[in-house]
Amino acid sequence: STAALSRIGLAGLAVMGQNLALNIAEKGFPISVYNRTISKVDETVDRARNEGHLPLVGQYNPRDFVLSIERPRSVIILVKAGAPVDQTIATLSEHMEAGDCIIDGGNEWYENTERRIQQVADKGILYLGMGVSGGEDGARHGPSLMPGGSYQAYSNVQDILMKVAAQVEDGPCVTYIGEGGSGNFVKMVHNGIEYGDMQLISEAYDVLKHVGGLSNSELAQIFAEWNRGELESFLIEITADIFKVKDESGDGDLVDKILDKTGMKGTGKWTVQQAAELSVAAPTIAASLDCRYLSGLKDERENAANVLKEAGLNDQVGYVKSGIDRKRLIDDVRQALYASKICSYAQGMNLLRAKSDEKGWNLNLGELARIWKGGCIIRAVFLDRIKKAYQRNPNLASLIVDPEFAREMVQRQAAWRRVVGLAISAGISTPGMCASLAYFDTYRRARLPANLVQAQRDLFGAHTYERIDRPGSFHTEWTKLA
Ligand code: NAP
Repeated sequence: STAALSRIGLAGLAVMGQNLALNIAEKGFPISVYNRTISKVDETVDRARNEGHLPLVGQYNPRDFVLSIERPRSVIILVKAGAPVDQTIATLSEHMEAGDCIIDGGNEWYENTERRIQQVADKGILYLGMGVSGGEDGARHGPSLMPGGSYQAYSNVQDILMKVAAQVEDGPCVTYIGEGGSGNFVKMVHNGIEYGDMQLISEAYDVLKHVGGLSNSELAQIFAEWNRGELESFLIEITADIFKVKDESGDGDLVDKILDKTGMKGTGKWTVQQAAELSVAAPTIAASLDCRYLSGLKDERENAANVLKEAGLNDQVGYVKSGIDRKRLIDDVRQALYASKICSYAQGMNLLRAKSDEKGWNLNLGELARIWKGGCIIRAVFLDRIKKAYQRNPNLASLIVDPEFAREMVQRQAAWRRVVGLAISAGISTPGMCASLAYFDTYRRARLPANLVQAQRDLFGAHTYERIDRPGSFHTEWTKLA
């Protein structure tokens, strides 16, 4: 046949695949698309026509699909993570040849990617596990891309990825992450950080609403204002928008009608599990995950509210504080949110470094902050400061001790403590802000009460301890001396 071959292929045309395929076609790269259920192929072809006669060809079986792509072939798959990816690889690889490449763009567990790299290597097929962030809109107009695995495979599609990714002033939001499953791992931690950001924002909302008594329209204004300063970010921007939406099926605002139970798909849990595996403290991200679990216990929480009320829980707990200086509260909450966020990012970055050391991935933390500046859900002006912090010192032990961030945290700590203190006395839980503050206060103290824990361990388990005044390990017969 003399039909022109496509430059690349994409299989899996649900929300993400369809939009990413259109994005690729729009950037001028002829693309073949395929989906198990062929109605989605037709849908995508229709969209390509309606959105400007984009160079996109629908294919209706795996063989035609693969053979319609120029060699060495690059095929992106965007299907449900897990077994569907294995099935799709089996179906497509049957028609692929040595030197071709499979790029899994799903939210995949990194070890699955490492297993598949080995598996397809038998046929000489190259493999990338590529984190894609930015949801539907990002996929269509410019996501943040985190490709890891075969460098050769990355080189083959680098020109496409650079054009398709979100563009910010210092370049496209894509970089070669590293070997193995590093791209998926980085995307996973990105999602964990996203959990933290969302939790911290929801706590700021809770305090402003329940301690400050702010209305939804006031909240919309405040978040819009915050989005013009150091907190400028996608999540702050959409939060401002959410408060403006009326309930179309009743009175009042839609946000007040939404059931307070959070969904989740697992990447936050994986992040916390990995932190524990690597002995990295990630309390803000863990608190965000715990909050999602607790939010799921709606019936139990309703019951607890009644039981504790009957048990005499102070009526004033959870109510708007009278005589509060609202202007100051708003400014304090902004500062508390910013400082808490720095601690959360410090945790995520330190988790990435620990994994990088374990796996030899050689992750460039400043580059990761850079590619998160656009396209993805956690995109924020503040990521440029993180990038610069790691450029100043690639071996920075923690963002907290970068001189600029250190100064910012010190400047904000009084406001931060006021907010947390006020929330605690009002009975409004702020687990993310508290976790961040405790992390800061633990990390910055040269001496902790861990000496007592060591003494206890030595007393009951002869685990020995070290001393501050001389080297060696020591054991004491504590009970004989007490
Ligand atoms: P999805 O709902 O996760 O998956 C639906 C797609 O998977 C459909 O194309 C479906 O094909 C295909 N599929 C399911 N089982 C299959 C099987 N056994 N064999 C072949 N194909 C199978 O789609 P999505 O929301 O677009 O997400 C795709 C990936 O991107 C996921 O890993 C997701 O976690 C990740 N992601 C999603 C977002 C988002 O905002 N949605 C953001 C970032 C990353 P049929 O049509 O034939 O059923």
